[in-house]
Amino acid sequence: MNKNKCLEAVNQLMEDRRTNSRIEENRRREGIFASVPAIAQKERELQENHAAFFRFFADRDGSEEKFLAFRDKSLSLQEEIKTLLAQNGYPADYLDPVHHCSVCLDEGVVDGALCACYKQALSEQYLKESGMEHLFNGAGFAKYDLSLYPADARQKMEKLLEFSKKYVQTFGEESQNLLFVGEPGCGKTFLSVCIGCELIRTGKFVLYAPVQSLLGDFEAATFRNKEAGLPTEDYLDADLLIIDDLGTEFYSSFVETTLYSVINTRLTRKKPTVISTNLSIDDREACYASRLNSRLTYSFLNLQFPDADLRAEILRRKAAKKNPR
Ligand SMILES: [Zn+2]
Repeated sequence: MNKNKCLEAVNQLMEDRRTNSRIEENRRREGIFASVPAIAQKERELQENHAAFFRFFADRDGSEEKFLAFRDKSLSLQEEIKTLLAQNGYPADYLDPVHHCSVCLDEGVVDGALCACYKQALSEQYLKESGMEHLFNGAGFAKYDLSLYPADARQKMEKLLEFSKKYVQTFGEESQNLLFVGEPGCGKTFLSVCIGCELIRTGKFVLYAPVQSLLGDFEAATFRNKEAGLPTEDYLDADLLIIDDLGTEFYSSFVETTLYSVINTRLTRKKPTVISTNLSIDDREACYASRLNSRLTYSFLNLQFPDADLRAEILRRKAAKKNPR
């Protein structure tokens, strides 16, 4: 699902909320009119008063006095309905429309700007489509535990974390491409997913893919003619693309061409990319042809992660919790 499909899904959600609100309002009205006929009677009088007011308004011959009479009658009928509701054990607003969001009344827009409820629904939709929904239980900077790093690595990691926070705050077309370099288990994936999830919270469309799945999708689109449903265009157009574990793929000329094409297209479109890899600069030179290497080296900010094995440390802590000395 791409960005536009996500927007369509959220617009549909808003429409469903409005429909459900009308259904619920009708259900309440019908139920109460059947059980308390006096309320039904007052409601009819209220509707008749409104209809009479509109006729009066259309004729344009009304006096201020008449206008006030309609208004006062309407207000007093509404008060009587509220009193009847209270006498029968219902809250005073029981017949008011039931909206999911009382700020925008489920329109999704308030004062010409997107309502917080719409933004929230959109970021939930983006997260579902991002490939990160089930990674690290919704990662975020707040979950970053620097104490998992050995003491001598902490300061370096803290700097990377601060850099990442600023990256999210100032994210846009001019943002740099990032290459996270480091040994397996040093936290590259976690930090890249933190950046991705935080950006989604600010309304950006972010896709995460291990390099193998990204290549698999392009391979299916190219050789098996399976364009439908594959996110190949989204990889090129997402606000941020995170490619994880570069270097774990099986090398072929197709791989080389595809990676170059994805990275290059995104550079041209000014869409930033974050790549994580265990490969050092020498490894990369041995693995890839020069044009891809030159992109990775000169069009990406290379950030070296400190040595650490977070997975081992997490396991050690779990074991210590289970068997405290
Ligand atoms: Zn709202």
